[in-house]
Amino acid sequence: MAYKLGKILISRDKIHERVTEVAKQIANDFDNDQPLVFVGILTGAAFFLTDLVREMPENMNVQVDFMSVASYGDSDKSSGVVRIYHDLKSSIENKNVIVVEDIVDTGLTLSHLKKLLLDRHPASLKICALLDKQARRKTDIKPDYCCFSIPDEFVVGYGLDYASKWRHLKDIKSVVDE
Ligand code: 5GP
Repeated sequence: MAYKLGKILISRDKIHERVTEVAKQIANDFDNDQPLVFVGILTGAAFFLTDLVREMPENMNVQVDFMSVASYGDSDKSSGVVRIYHDLKSSIENKNVIVVEDIVDTGLTLSHLKKLLLDRHPASLKICALLDKQARRKTDIKPDYCCFSIPDEFVVGYGLDYASKWRHLKDIKSVVDE
């Protein structure tokens, strides 16, 4: 089946406004002098992460790292495994970490990833999601920071793709049957 772009679900202005608010919330929760590592999950979250960290105060010790992962195994169980395609460059041991994800859907990817990263003994580990599709959740994972809750529909833009297309859109849009 072919798909085309639907209506704007979240406009670029709304995204900017909310990303700024969430950045402030994060900045308030952490000390300036301790490193705060933002771990972006490639590829979708790269767009969100770069906007988010540029809203952090200049005097904060902000660090940026990326991971590329896919969860596999029994897709209905949260006890699956994460395959790492690209790992972090630096150790997160004893550091405060914020995992930045584009969208939490079933929550399986994040719940696997959380376990994997907790085994590396960070000082703390929080999850920051651009979008949360709660209706689809199969695990008890809940983002600590979230920009928008959305209904159960497939969305693209601002980093989110469909078959490698439409990541570059400035607004978040729905996808509809052609
Ligand atoms: P989860 O393990 O939470 O089910 O999977 C989350 C991943 O599924 C996201 O990182 C994203 O790649 C993909 N995903 C889930 N919902 C959507 C959606 O509405 N649009 C797009 N483009 N990707 C989605």
